[in-house]
Amino acid sequence: MTRILIIYTGGTIGMVNDSTTGVLKPFDFNQILENVPELSRLNYQIKIHSFDPIIDSSNMHPEIWVQLAELIEDNYPSYDGFVILHGSDTMAFTASALSFMLEGLNKPVVFTGSQLPIGEIRTDAKENLITALEIASAKKGGKAKVPEVCIYFDSQLFRGNRAFKYNSAKFEAFRSPNYPVLAEAGVHLSFNYANIRKCDNCVLKVHKSLSNDIAVLKIYPGISQQTVKAILGSKVKAIIMETFGAGNTPTDKWFLLLLEQAIKKGKIILDISQCKVGSVELGRYETSRELKGMGIASGYDMTFEAAVTKLMFLLGGSFSTERIYELLETDLRGELSKKNPTNWKKAVF
Ligand code: ASP
Repeated sequence: MTRILIIYTGGTIGMVNDSTTGVLKPFDFNQILENVPELSRLNYQIKIHSFDPIIDSSNMHPEIWVQLAELIEDNYPSYDGFVILHGSDTMAFTASALSFMLEGLNKPVVFTGSQLPIGEIRTDAKENLITALEIASAKKGGKAKVPEVCIYFDSQLFRGNRAFKYNSAKFEAFRSPNYPVLAEAGVHLSFNYANIRKCDNCVLKVHKSLSNDIAVLKIYPGISQQTVKAILGSKVKAIIMETFGAGNTPTDKWFLLLLEQAIKKGKIILDISQCKVGSVELGRYETSRELKGMGIASGYDMTFEAAVTKLMFLLGGSFSTERIYELLETDLRGELSKKNPTNWKKAVF
């Protein structure tokens, strides 16, 4: 019999309205079980692990990512797949982080949650949970169909490190414009095998050291010297620079000089685009030529969530600065495409 471990971290899926304040607060897992009697009809052996405390995912933290990775590591031999119930606000960060932490994964780790609590009549929680369980248990020739960290939400299965939350009002909360969906749930569950990672003879290696020694420099027209100086001059080891279009920035002398000085001091600078579709192409425009010359790393088509967690993962390892620069531009877990991006042209946004 298929064995699935459900890990409950919190999120709207299990929330109830506090009778005194009226705000939504996480509630214990029994609330979920009571509302999904269908679970007992599934022919799986399901075990539940509930985090304590359960949280709104806005309180998510790298320390909890380590606990999650350890839980999966400890239970890895005993289960066919894992379903993680998580708030949608930071789900893409957690899924991205785990994709880097769980090297050599060959079992499904499916994140899901919901926009409405499971106790509400119009809830999206039941479908999300039941289909996530089906995906976590799906096998072909004895092997998991989706041996990846992924996010299932509103009929679509996304690669975890390619997705981001784009909508707080629709059931369709996530998108992954730079990578095709891994599966779609309609009358049938149809898997997009060509785009699912395969790891047949992989052996799980769990990385548990993360460093949050990073800052973010978001560029906007009129950004002041003082602001750029404060961020580049801060004590952090690495800076994610969120740039315009294909990775472009202003070319003011003072701006380029500050970047150059930061790099000379050993800081790591990663260029990712503020655009959600498409890729950084350093050197395509005059406004990114000098960035390329300085050795700033291209984040290609990585999401912000993947960029943050990839840096935390790399800084937590014992890599030299040069090696981190190399690895940032290397596809480690399917988080970036360098050539022939898969579906930019087809992206509906
Ligand atoms: N604030 C909630 C959370 O991320 C939203 C959700 O679950 O969808 O925990």
